[in-house]
Amino acid sequence: MDVNTLFILTMHVEAMLGILLLLVWLQNKSTHGVAWWGSAHLMRSVSVALYGTYGWAPNLVSIDLSSVLLFTSFGVTWTGARVFAGRKPLPGSLCAGAILWLTACQIPGFTDALYLRGLLGASIIATFSWATAYEFWRGRGESLVSRWPAIVLLFSNGALFLMRTPLVTAVSQPINDHGILSSAWLTVMSAEALLFTIAIAFVLLAMAKERAELRQRTAAMVDPLTGLANRRAFLQFGEETIRAQVKRGRPVAVFLLDFDHFKTVNDQYGHLVGDIALRTFAETATRSLRTSDIVGRMGGEEFAVLLSDANRDNAYLVAERLRTNFESAAVALGVHNKVHATLSIGVSIIQEPTDDLALLLERADRALYRAKAKGRNRVELSELPGDPSLPETPDAPERLSTAA
Ligand code: GH3
Ligand code: MG
Ligand code: MG
Repeated sequence: MDVNTLFILTMHVEAMLGILLLLVWLQNKSTHGVAWWGSAHLMRSVSVALYGTYGWAPNLVSIDLSSVLLFTSFGVTWTGARVFAGRKPLPGSLCAGAILWLTACQIPGFTDALYLRGLLGASIIATFSWATAYEFWRGRGESLVSRWPAIVLLFSNGALFLMRTPLVTAVSQPINDHGILSSAWLTVMSAEALLFTIAIAFVLLAMAKERAELRQRTAAMVDPLTGLANRRAFLQFGEETIRAQVKRGRPVAVFLLDFDHFKTVNDQYGHLVGDIALRTFAETATRSLRTSDIVGRMGGEEFAVLLSDANRDNAYLVAERLRTNFESAAVALGVHNKVHATLSIGVSIIQEPTDDLALLLERADRALYRAKAKGRNRVELSELPGDPSLPETPDAPERLSTAA
């Protein structure tokens, strides 16, 4: 395949990749990075087309404009990576490659120094490629599998561009008279650049798709009103956590919480105020518990908590703290709305390694029923084995050990 054929091929492939990415962006406009990446490929296609007019079009178009477009396109790819990570575009830095190039062209002798021109061009492209890889690396907190091939590809793309100039010069010079090897090298380099651009486009596409799927999956697990895990997520994470805790020989406690007289709260103050109370609970729970604990909305005004590494006494104390913290938060709410919302909590502790989440929730539900029966706004512990009649509910905190 000769260089000219590769040139025409590159122009078409870049255009197709650009259109493909823009179409994907039109389908799901939430990921703006994809639009930037699509535009970058289209810019490269135009740049290659302009370069092809060398000889019959003025140099200003075939060389200067084509180079400016090429360097800016790599800046656009980098901007896409910033936008993908939720950062702002930096227009100055985006154009920095093109500006640097145009400034260098004003230096006498630069345009004729082929090696220097090649080196500066490759350095600009390598810098943008590495900056793009760096943006993806910085965003690694969001676990996307396709992030890693993207980083590797962009990093190697930059390195190969940088190596290209010395390599072409070194290999082609001794046999320049024959022109055979130099042309072969140019073909290899152009083919490699083409393969890279295709691979990068598809990896970027995979990242955008993977993120969309991840967000959909997350949305299916989150309760939209409170932002807590929904019932499905709580049951799934809860069961996994119990199995892991049993394996490590560590205890687990489960709370079931239900708002007191919530119908009255809704009737008196309206559904919106009721919703605020539910959100206040979510904030209080998130603040009062450790990040390793799981809180979920089981439905309506019923919530569940799974506490790791907590024994019976400890679990009771945590539940008491949650109850009183919520009471204070609801009173603070009442300054504006005169709402007095409280909740009752039933607590159960794992007793046998074979106990599962369903059993723990069932026991917590019985304890919750008792808390309601005993007057609400209180915590009740589930029965201990061998004492199915009346539970031992601690009433004085000094009786309780604080050790987990
Ligand atoms: P109890 O102390 O016995 O639990 O009394 P209660 O009034 O809380 O009784 P119940 O659990 O039967 O009532 C639940 C109420 O919670 C009924 C429903 O209107 C209200 N509710 C359920 N989901 C929501 C919600 O998303 N927002 C609001 N504002 N209210 C809700
Ligand atoms: Mg209820
Ligand atoms: Mg209720």
